[in-house]
Order: sequence, then C-alpha cells, then structure tokens
Amino acid sequence: MSSTTVINPADESVIGTIEHTTLEHVDEAVARAVVAQRAWAALAPVDRARALRRFAAVIDAHIDELAALEVRNSGHPIAQARWEAGNVRDVLDYYSGAPERMLGQQIPVAGGLDVTFHEPLGVVGVIVPWNFPMPIAGWALGPALAAGNAVLLKPADWTPLTAMRLGELALESGLPEHLFQVLPGRGSVVGERFVTHEQVRKIVFTGSTEVGKRVMAGCAAQVKPVTLELGGKSANIVFADADLELAASSAPGSVFDNAGQDCCARSRLLVERSVLDRFLALLEPAVQAFAVGDPNDEATAMGPLVSREHFDNVRAFLEEGVEVAFRGSAPTGPGYWMAPTVVLPSRTDRIARDEVFGPVVSVLPFDDEADAVALANDSEFGLSGSIFTRDLGRAIRVSRGVESGNLSVNSHSSVRYATPFGGFKQSGLGRELGPDAPLAFTETKNVFYSHA
Ligand code: NAP
Repeated sequence: MSSTTVINPADESVIGTIEHTTLEHVDEAVARAVVAQRAWAALAPVDRARALRRFAAVIDAHIDELAALEVRNSGHPIAQARWEAGNVRDVLDYYSGAPERMLGQQIPVAGGLDVTFHEPLGVVGVIVPWNFPMPIAGWALGPALAAGNAVLLKPADWTPLTAMRLGELALESGLPEHLFQVLPGRGSVVGERFVTHEQVRKIVFTGSTEVGKRVMAGCAAQVKPVTLELGGKSANIVFADADLELAASSAPGSVFDNAGQDCCARSRLLVERSVLDRFLALLEPAVQAFAVGDPNDEATAMGPLVSREHFDNVRAFLEEGVEVAFRGSAPTGPGYWMAPTVVLPSRTDRIARDEVFGPVVSVLPFDDEADAVALANDSEFGLSGSIFTRDLGRAIRVSRGVESGNLSVNSHSSVRYATPFGGFKQSGLGRELGPDAPLAFTETKNVFYSHA
C-alpha cells in the first residue's frame, strides 16, 4: 500500500505517514455510503437538522485542536486556521436550517395536483485541494448532507490531517457511520474512482483548471453532475479617484493572505496610470509591514508555502527575468519561505497571465475605464476581483462589466457562507454556498396526482 509523508512546511519536519486508500477500499466505502445515505434520507428532516447542529457543536469544541493541526500540516497562521475551523462549524450551522426548508412547488394544472420534490442525489464525491483543506471540504459537506446525501471526501495528498480529524469528529457527534467518510489518497486513484464509480452520483471538484477539465470529461461518460471550483487570476482595479491610502493598505492582504495560495488572490493589481507612482509609494510600506513568520504567532499574517515542490513552481515564475518593484521580508532557514513580491511585468508575460498561486502580485497600469475592464477580462479565468473608486456610477458600470463570479467594491470581500461563490469562464462551473447550495445536491422530481 502506498503512503504519504506529511511535512510541516514551516520547518520541514516530518509530522507522520498517512496510508493511501486503495481502489478496492474506495469501492467498499462507496457501498457503505450507499446504505448509509438511504437511512439518512429517510430520517425526519428535523432529525437531520439536529444531527448537523450537533456536528457543528462538536467542531466548535475542537476549534483550537483543528487549528493547531492545520498550522502544522499547512503552515497557515494560527488566527487564520482558527477562522477556517470556525468556518466549517458555521457552514454546518447555516445548512442545518435546510433539511426543513427544502421546499418544492405546487404548480396549477388541470385534472389533479402537481408538485415538485428535491430528491437527494445519493453519494457525492468531494475532491479538495491543499490550500484551504477545511473550509473547502465544508462548503460541499454542509449542503450535501443537508439535502440528504452521503459524502466521500478526498483530501489533497499534502494536507489530509484536518479532513481526517473532521471525519472522526463527525462520528463523535453521532452522525451516522459511513455517511461522511474521508479517504486520503492519490487523485489519480481515489479521485478518479469517484469519477468513474457509477454509484457516486455527483462530483464536487476544487483544484486546478487542468485537472478540473479531466474530471468534467470523466463525468460526461456517465452524464454525472459536476461542480467545478478552479483557478483564478483576479484583478484588483484601482482608479485615480479612489481612496488610494485604503486601496494600498488593503492590497497586500488581498493577494498575500495564505501566502497567495488562494484561488481568489487579487494577483493582478491594475492601477490607473496617472496615479501609478503615488500608489506604488503607498504600497511599498504596506508590503514591508506584512508580517511573514512563525505560523504559531498570533500576529503573523503569512506563513510558508505548502511544499518544496510548490515553492519551486512559484520561484520559477520569478526567474523569468521580470522586473521586481520591491519585496517584503521572510524568515530564512528551513521551511518554504518566500517574501511577498511586487513585480512590474508586461501584459503578455507569463507571470501576469498564469495563476502563480504564491505571494507575487503583478502591477499593470491602465489608461481609462474601458482599458481597465478590457484588461481585467483579458484572462481565461473569472473568479474574483475588487474595484476601488469613489464614483458610484463607475463602480456600477465596472462591476457589471468585469466577467467574474465574485466582486467587491472598495473592499476585498472574502468568501461568505451566506452568499453564492463560483467562477466565470475557466474558473469553474456551478456555485457553492449561499441559500441555494443544497439544491445543487438534488434532482427535481415532478409528480402529477390525478384526482380522477
Ligand atoms: P490539483 O492538483 O488540481 O488537485 C486538486 C485535488 O484533485 C487534489 O485532491 C488532487 O489529489 C486531486 N486530483 C489530482 N488528479 C486528479 C485526477 N486525475 N482525478 C481526480 N482528482 C485528482 O489542485 P491543487 O494544486 O491541489 O490546488 C490548487 C488549485 O486549486 C489552484 O488552481 C486554485 O486556484 C484552485 N482552487 C480553486 C478554488 C475555487 O474555489 N475556485 C479554491 C481553492 C483552490 P492529489 O493531492 O493526490 O494530487
């Protein structure tokens, strides 16, 4: 049986070894989930709601433990890791309202009664990346369970620990056995088996656009529904009329949070040319003040990159001869540390177009509003973005003009569980979170009852 050695990215120490799930064990897990799902869907809605609330309460009691585990496995700053564990709790709490509110319709027709039902799909396969192991798992888990499904979760190979602990906490909370199973292993084995297994009725995939396309093609073979949350290259657009101090002081967090390993990172900083010099002068001290260091320190804003391999991928972008405007600081010594870096590429450079997924931001000047929107949209991605302006009309025009699923004006709104989240273009397909998320885990059934 193959295994993974889990490494602490802050100091490169070995945390432990996790055995990979084999194909045979995936199939056994699916068979158990099929049985568990039927019993779960047959429970009274109020009992499913209560079970989700109990699960949320148990997570709440283990926030510090889960956060500490994520600090060690992923190098996330402790305050952020606590937020991540709390987000899973909050998502479960939010969707615990759903089982009793899966409302169908009664549609007026002649000759009888016509009603719709939202039937659960069955077993859902959830494949998550390493950048936010807990929240991304929770965004599928909460609504899928609420809608009456079972969930099989494949964590990323580098970061399986918190997902595995969530699986244990589910059982401690009294959630039925086999309803939520965590299967660590390789994407090419466990993930692909979710896709090809006929009794896995939906895939929620979060990860790279390249693998997402493969997953989507695999799902096509069985007409299997799929939600895709993929890459991003989001624009932070700063107009000359904006509060430049606010725009400059908030820009580092919008791209360097989680060491830039964030699908929503505003990694293209579009600045109106007439204020470029002034903006860069305001940005430099903000970047230098961005606290990079020990993830266990409450004041730390950014930790290390997740792995040696990923560190090398990010560094390769910076070795392509791009002009560096300035850098922040980072620890030296063991660990995958990289200083926040501001670069001045041309619009066609790889670093300005591809997802770097590290603490690097490309500053690109623009000439006017039309140029800003065209530049923001000149990307295969369309996930997130921000617009800084004091002109309300411009804020409306630009937010409607930018092809992106999640925008924020004069702020960098992060993902909220109560609002829909997902991407345009090659950033994804479908939406997670928000009030409608459980419906993405159901089929609509229409039944006509004749009164003849
Ligand atoms: P990745 O390489 O695509 O992997 C994502 C997940 O898919 C991992 O669990 C991986 O397993 C698995 N996988 C790999 N090959 C597979 C296959 N053939 N079939 C099924 N599953 C397979 O992505 P990543 O490097 O972990 O994550 C970074 C990417 O995720 C970035 O592009 C980022 O933008 C994106 N992301 C998007 C969102 C969003 O909401 N839009 C959120 C976060 C991240 P292994 O770990 O075993 O390889």
